[in-house]
Amino acid sequence: MATEYRDNFCPVCGYDIMPHFKGHFADEICPSCGIQFNYEDTAGGSEEMRKGVYLEWRLKWIKDGKKWFYKDDALKPENWNPDEQLKNLLKN
Ligand SMILES: [Zn+2]
Repeated sequence: MATEYRDNFCPVCGYDIMPHFKGHFADEICPSCGIQFNYEDTAGGSEEMRKGVYLEWRLKWIKDGKKWFYKDDALKPENWNPDEQLKNLLKN
């Protein structure tokens, strides 16, 4: 199924998620923006609605100041830059 985001990046915040999730998003929480995949984004199974969910999360995350979600910084990249990270969503 075609999606508007790249599979290895969080569709909400652009965090490069794959090294941590070992190939799938199932029931995982993005350490950057805090969305829980297959929970917050079920959207009744509708791909269109899911895009809306991701967009809503992204806008909320940006509005809240693009804070690192995960309480410990173990997964946080060195020199983490949320604005640079968001650009990952555009490289399709
Ligand atoms: Zn994220």
